[in-house]
Amino acid sequence: MAVQDEPPVEDQQGYRLEAEQPSPPPVAHPARATLTSDTVGDDVICLQCGYSIRGLPHEGRCPECGTPIKRSLQGNLLRYSSPAYLATLNRGVFLILAAIAAKVICVVGGIILIGLLTGRGLTDLARVSELLLWTASTGLSVLSLIGWWLFSAPDPAFVGAGGGTTARKVVRTTVAAAAVLTAMVTVVEMLATSIATSVDSAAKILLGVVLTVKFFAAMLYLRWLAHRFSNVVFDARARLLMWLCPLLVTVGTLFCFVGPIIALVLYWNLLNWVRIEINRIRQVAVAS
Ligand SMILES: [Zn+2]
Repeated sequence: MAVQDEPPVEDQQGYRLEAEQPSPPPVAHPARATLTSDTVGDDVICLQCGYSIRGLPHEGRCPECGTPIKRSLQGNLLRYSSPAYLATLNRGVFLILAAIAAKVICVVGGIILIGLLTGRGLTDLARVSELLLWTASTGLSVLSLIGWWLFSAPDPAFVGAGGGTTARKVVRTTVAAAAVLTAMVTVVEMLATSIATSVDSAAKILLGVVLTVKFFAAMLYLRWLAHRFSNVVFDARARLLMWLCPLLVTVGTLFCFVGPIIALVLYWNLLNWVRIEINRIRQVAVAS
């Protein structure tokens, strides 16, 4: 097997990067008649534009878009994706991580501040702080949605119908729906009438459902990405968190809200891991 010829690479964190993990890349079939081993034997299509590269030399380029033939033979690993796409993924995951961190700081700090102001009888200042906290929190939710929108951008280099493409589309759809509902909740809460209150509750419930669907789709999407950067350990972690996080958020809330905090830390770490992986791939691409 190829694994014995090429020892698995391990990174600083000690997890293994197995080059053969993702769906096997299309390879030229040596037994095809009339074609030499220097040409593409099977019905392989160009990763970039979908043009059939059968019969073309390995060292050549796609006649349609100029992508090197070798790259199409290598499959859908992220390291063969365009630098622009990787930069978009990186920007997206960075925004998500920053929004989560800022929101935690904002909410914890805000609650302490409001508590202190109320305790000293400064109710007007407490009300202003509450409004500022609400505005900042809404802004950060929007920032996170922008991050997810970028992070789930389609890869022009990806060819084929991997399961992750469906998960990616579900992430994008739920992000768009969540943006609309967040805007609705924001407007309705500013109006603060009795009809608005019931609309607000309904929109919040719907938003909760949409964000739950987004979480599961995002986990499936992350698992798909794990295969694209060849990390089986990451895949296993995403699979674990897919059920562990909801368990911690629901049952864990009963234990003085410790569960949701642990879930958030685990979730943040998983996304930060993706960011590190993407940057590693980008650095390798620049160096080579
Ligand atoms: Zn092409």
